[in-house]
Amino acid sequence: MNPPPFAVLEPPEFRVGIGYDCHRLVPDRPLMLGGVEIESDKGLLGHSDADVVLHAITDALLGAVGQGDIGELFPPSDPQWKDAPSSVFVRHAVELVQGYGWRVVNLDIVVVIERPRILPHRESIRENIRKLLGIDVGAVGLKAKTGEGIGPVGKGKLAESHAVVLLMRREKPKLM
Ligand code: MG
Repeated sequence: MNPPPFAVLEPPEFRVGIGYDCHRLVPDRPLMLGGVEIESDKGLLGHSDADVVLHAITDALLGAVGQGDIGELFPPSDPQWKDAPSSVFVRHAVELVQGYGWRVVNLDIVVVIERPRILPHRESIRENIRKLLGIDVGAVGLKAKTGEGIGPVGKGKLAESHAVVLLMRREKPKLM
């Protein structure tokens, strides 16, 4: 019997990944969030540019394909990552995900920081993340929360970010 002259529809395959990161807020460092520099009297301390948002996204992507975490792939002990823009880590993770045959459907991000206010910067951050991942801006959710004045976040000593990503198996080639 001849195969059908059209692609057989199969149930779509999905993966989810979760990522979390935190960095200390200190004077005399730039505040990078989602690849966008935000005016602030404090910035994030880390070996790279310490962009908590992009680090959480990187870990979510790696987690969705079972590939460890950002610390393993880009160890802080490696001098080549000193002050590196974290977009490098995200791009690497996206290439890895695509290499395994997946595409990013959407992601949702929470950034937790006492100040400055993130809302005025939300659209530029979403746009930057959209470009990095090659997806529609509607597929990038970004919410900002504070620490309500208590704990290390509330006292302005720490910033945190959480990210969840959904991947879908890319369309299989048609049979003919
Ligand atoms: Mg980090």
